[in-house]
Amino acid sequence: MTHQVSRTERLARLLTRSGLDRLARMSWRGLLILNYHRIGVPGELDDPDLFSATPEDFEAQVRLLADRFEIVPAGTADLDAETPARRIAITVDDGYRDMTVAAEILSAHGVPGSFFICTGFIDEPHHAWWDEIAWLTAQPIARDLPASEWLPHGLPVHGRGPAEVRRALTAAYKQRAGERGEDFLDWLARCVGRARPDAERATEQWLTWEAVRSLERAGMEIGGHSVTHPVLANLNPQQQHREIGESVRRLRDELAGPVDTFAYPVGSRAAFDRHTKDALADLGIRRAFSFCGGVNRARRSERYDVRRAGVFRDHSPAVVGAIAAVPGVLASPRQYA
Ligand SMILES: [Zn+2]
Repeated sequence: MTHQVSRTERLARLLTRSGLDRLARMSWRGLLILNYHRIGVPGELDDPDLFSATPEDFEAQVRLLADRFEIVPAGTADLDAETPARRIAITVDDGYRDMTVAAEILSAHGVPGSFFICTGFIDEPHHAWWDEIAWLTAQPIARDLPASEWLPHGLPVHGRGPAEVRRALTAAYKQRAGERGEDFLDWLARCVGRARPDAERATEQWLTWEAVRSLERAGMEIGGHSVTHPVLANLNPQQQHREIGESVRRLRDELAGPVDTFAYPVGSRAAFDRHTKDALADLGIRRAFSFCGGVNRARRSERYDVRRAGVFRDHSPAVVGAIAAVPGVLASPRQYA
């Protein structure tokens, strides 16, 4: 297989080689918040799409960013500050054990990070729905998936690789599973003729509460990320309130410091609505983070839609440097539309 060099990678190399990256870095103002998920190498029970970087790449990225920018904590940084003109924050979502690796790297560079924890995985370790979908679709599937309430047109699998099938099913889950995620996964397991993974094996994937407290003691910010990681906007207002409230309550019980920030599960524009924001206000949340790209500009940010841009595993450290140099192009909301 030949390695495809992405357009972004080519732009990153061009910026560095021409020396234009220095100049480009002066071209924007605001707070760029990067969002990571997994730091590591995917195993058979992991959705590879969730991986943002290997520990080595993450370390190289943090080194490069800390060298060029002021790194600030996403939860408490002043969103309206005019100086310095450019700041960067680093956030990590979900609650996998990889967070400990990320926190150690951040601490080694003396920079803060913000970690958003899905408390249901800590209280009762089980596989995340995206990891189950990855597991169930990792092997070739013999028959096309029939039309159903989850896939109104079915899904022809012939000629599609596992990544394409996995992404189609993940999209269907986000769109339609709502509070019936278990039914969706049971249906998929029946369709592909494979057993759902044993929950026992999930225990080692997630942080323990003691490990979450260690992150806090290391000076990292901790915020909520729901209990079961649903697309909140697919739930009714009471269910949304419960998902946010229960996750924040558990974090407040277990941690010493205040818990008043939240990252929307999935985080796209369709993942939250005005009921979500009402629940956040009711529960004393000061700031909530989306995942739609973009830079937060002084006096133009919304406290319940603080923008974050994703880092993905095909991003080399040079690409992350380029994203930070020209976020208007490379972290643009257009790329998340
Ligand atoms: Zn998440």
